[in-house]
This record gives sequence, C-alpha cells and structure tokens, in this order.
Amino acid sequence: MSRTVYVNGEYLPEGEAKISIFDRGFVMADGVYEVVSVLDGKLIDFPGHQARLNRSLDALEIGQPLSDEDYLAMFRELVTRNQIGDGLIYLQVTRGNPGDRDFAYPPKDTPQTVVAFTQAKPGLAENPAAQTGWKIVTLPDQRWGRRDIKTVQLLYPSMAKMAAKAQGADDAWLVEDGKVTEGTSNNAYIVKGNTIVTRELSHDILHGITRAAVLRLAREAQLQIEERGFTPEEASAADEAFVTSASAFVMPVVSIDGAEIGDGKPGKIAARLREIYLDEMRKTAL
Ligand code: PMP
Repeated sequence: MSRTVYVNGEYLPEGEAKISIFDRGFVMADGVYEVVSVLDGKLIDFPGHQARLNRSLDALEIGQPLSDEDYLAMFRELVTRNQIGDGLIYLQVTRGNPGDRDFAYPPKDTPQTVVAFTQAKPGLAENPAAQTGWKIVTLPDQRWGRRDIKTVQLLYPSMAKMAAKAQGADDAWLVEDGKVTEGTSNNAYIVKGNTIVTRELSHDILHGITRAAVLRLAREAQLQIEERGFTPEEASAADEAFVTSASAFVMPVVSIDGAEIGDGKPGKIAARLREIYLDEMRKTAL
C-alpha cells in the first residue's frame, strides 16, 4: 500500500510528493527534523518533541511555518490515513526554495518546506533487542559544534553507524576529548550502583526528549543522577549501560569495544527504566 505523506499543506501518495531541487534542505542540509513514536495509534511525548522543534527552528532563524495545533492535527491525520498502530512519524522543516543557490539565507518571507511521513513499525515497544542489548564501539565525534540543534545533517552519524556495523556492533558511541558525547542517534548512559551517569546538556549533544523523561522518572524512582561526561574506560567498568531515543526508548548496552559491561547481559536498572518509561508514556500519549 502506498503511504500518504504530508507536503506543504497537502496529503499525497508518496509517489506524487515533490519538493524543489533548489530546496535548502537538499542543497545545504539547511533544515531540522523531529521523530515522534506512535504506540497503539497514539503519539508518544508529543509536547516534548514539539518544544524541541520550535527551539531548533528558532536557533536557525528558519521561522515557524505551522502552529503547535497544526502539527498535532497533521500527525494525527497521518496516523489515521496510514493506519499506524506502532511506528514513527518523521517531520522535516527546511528553509525552503530560495530560487537560486546562494550561501546567504533567502528573504524571511520565503515559505519553508514542511514534509512529514510515517514508518510502520509493528511491535516497536517489543523490540527483541531489548532482551539481548546492543553492542557498542567507540568512534571519534566528528560532527559540527551545535549538536543541540536537530538538523538534517546526518552524514557523520550515518557513517559512524556503518563503521559500527562493519565491526559487528549495533551502534557507535562518539568520543570527544576523551569523553563520550552520545550515540549516533541516541543519548548514552552508564550505571554504577544506584547512580546513573550521562553527559550534561550543552551544545555538544542533542537534548533528547526521551532523556528528559527517563531522568525525571529515574529521580522519582529514587535513583541518583550524575550529569557529567564519562570515558569509554569508565563505561567498560560500569555495572550497566544503556541508550535512550524516541525510537529505541530505553535500550540496554552490553558491551563496549568488545569488552562486556557487567555480566554482559542487559542490566536490571535499564530494564526497569524501560518498563517505567513505556508505562508512563502510554498513559500520557495523545
Ligand atoms: N542524540 C542524537 C544525536 C539523536 O539523533 C537522537 C535521536 N534523534 C537522540 C540523541 C535522542 O533524542 P530523542 O530522545 O529526542 O529521540
């Protein structure tokens, strides 16, 4: 069945959806995106993703093409039209089509390009990988300096994912000045005793919406949180490790650069946080 996608106000079969070859997103990677998961036909933590989209658009002075209510209505429409039970919605907003290619931004009244599409992922929350955990390798973080803006410049994360897979791992943790920043498309955590360690928020990492919710729920569950960088060596000596993202939720990590973490099995705290997170998010889904 052909998907129905959203392009600049219209719902179209995916094969009929078109944007300009001059679009700044295509020519300059001048755009931002968001990913919202869908469980049982409902949007998970929509307000968090909405807020970050607005922050990313403001940081790049792209402007706000739609209202918060427009996005919610559009996401729901895509879920309905594509009969999504479990899956993901991707939203991309670019600076639009300036007419001619130019490094300077086009005039402020240039319409942004807004595209959204769904990906069906039946059983998204029952991913078998949550039972076995991910293997991680470390790689240098060669991304740009404003990783807190969720831009469509995903080439280095994509290269790092391929390098991880070539080494038989599931993902890479990126390292800068000796400390882990984050995963290719997730935030990174280690656990020692009752304490969860994850890098503090700054321009160096994406401010994960799942991270914010998981840390809040972890505090409520009386776990200690230390927001600071950690080295790959500290990670290999940890009791547990895990990552968070809107599509993987809380995913245990069982090895780093070939060294087992803890007993090499998914940790108890990661498993508990996954359960608490999914329970809470299903309750507040829209
Ligand atoms: N860091 C990076 C680099 C990411 O790409 C993502 C996923 N988009 C995350 C962290 C996790 O963010 P979220 O929990 O909002 O999906």
